[in-house]
Amino acid sequence: MAAPLPVTNDPDPTFAELIAGRPHIRMDARDGLMVEGVPLARIAAVVGTPAWVYSAGSLRRRTRALTGALGAAGLDASVHFAMKANDNLAVLALLHREGLGVDVVSEGELRLARAAGIPASRIVFSGVGKTERELRLALAEDIFQINAESAEEIGMISALATALGRTARVALRVNPDVDARTHAKITTGRAENKFGVAIDDALVLYARMAASPGIEAVGIATHIGSQITAGMAAYRTAYARLAEMVHAIRAVGLPILRVDCGGGLGITYRDEPAPMPEALAGAIKVTLGGLGLPVMLEPGRWIAGPAGLLLASVVIEKQGARRFVIADAAMNDLLRPSMYDAWHGILPISPIAHHAPLSPADVVGPVCETGDTFARGRALPALPAGELIAFLDAGAYGATMSSTYNARPLAPEVLVDGTRFAVVRDRQSYAALAHGQRIPDWIGA
Ligand SMILES: *Cc1c(COP(=O)(O)O)cnc(C)c1O
Repeated sequence: MAAPLPVTNDPDPTFAELIAGRPHIRMDARDGLMVEGVPLARIAAVVGTPAWVYSAGSLRRRTRALTGALGAAGLDASVHFAMKANDNLAVLALLHREGLGVDVVSEGELRLARAAGIPASRIVFSGVGKTERELRLALAEDIFQINAESAEEIGMISALATALGRTARVALRVNPDVDARTHAKITTGRAENKFGVAIDDALVLYARMAASPGIEAVGIATHIGSQITAGMAAYRTAYARLAEMVHAIRAVGLPILRVDCGGGLGITYRDEPAPMPEALAGAIKVTLGGLGLPVMLEPGRWIAGPAGLLLASVVIEKQGARRFVIADAAMNDLLRPSMYDAWHGILPISPIAHHAPLSPADVVGPVCETGDTFARGRALPALPAGELIAFLDAGAYGATMSSTYNARPLAPEVLVDGTRFAVVRDRQSYAALAHGQRIPDWIGA
């Protein structure tokens, strides 16, 4: 049976419903919206807005829920956080303390992971276009695993490893040709997508890989997409294809040590019924559980998304044919609404605003693009200049997708843990915007 597509004509969740679904957020009658034990108004007073705010408690709770579900299913599983979702060093260090490694997709991420104190032995390198320079660094660091995505890349890794006198532990990323029924821009496991090698070619390539000098073939990997909420059918199909491939690899007498199941588990932004980690653990167990191999997971969004929010101030409320609430955060900060038409919950911070009458408003940023729109027709109270608002579920693909478009400095990041908080990344300075730029002499004075 096909999973139903998300229904979008239901009324939006209420403020109370949004809060109830997010255990690290609560409304205090006096202090207003809080993350754990810290009022967001206090954070705004100290660091200004816009600012990213992450809940350490939520990050820990979600990590433990995922690893707990995998353990309860009897799986020998390791989790590598996909750090493109959130690459803040404090977040990475916290997740590492919870037992996670990381999945990196660039030299920059590899260097940040090491700067966060994550040992090379807990780093996996994925991505369809790793450069020679990036692979050389991965080999020099002797990271845990490289996921190869093409025959050409296998050749590249073999040549580089041989030249460096190293042995690369390589898993072959297989494209299982399944439709994860997610947004077209973030589906990755269909034959027409650029990722991995076609499942029909995979066995031949695996054999070639295993015979390549400088390479130890350690397993197979897949990743079928992101924000997967349409049930477990796509996962089960993909993993069943991987299981068949494990049998085929063994049948020809080749070694295989592990299976990398990728990430993609979706979360509830609005009212999508998001799958629980128990469901994913179950899908892995029924398909791959009987192989006697350890499995790996690479979640990003599921761990970090709900744990973060973007705190902003209202710059001005503009009345006309429509009501516009213009925030000091914009698409350069949180890109998801303009990039993927993503829905993010928007909560006022003031306790009074939670009891005021609601009317539809478009919530937009100050950037010179109509696409700089966070929400249209959202039921919100009057939000005069200076009111604080929070964009929920912005802990993944939030700060990492930010740019300085319109010469807007990158917003600071704050980590809350109980009643304490720390600025874990400063607001970018205006001086930094010009840093490294120069005007050549020949332009003239
Ligand atoms: C992006 C990505 C992930 C994480 O995806 P989420 O949807 O954030 O869980 C995992 N593995 C690979 C290879 C990725 O590219």
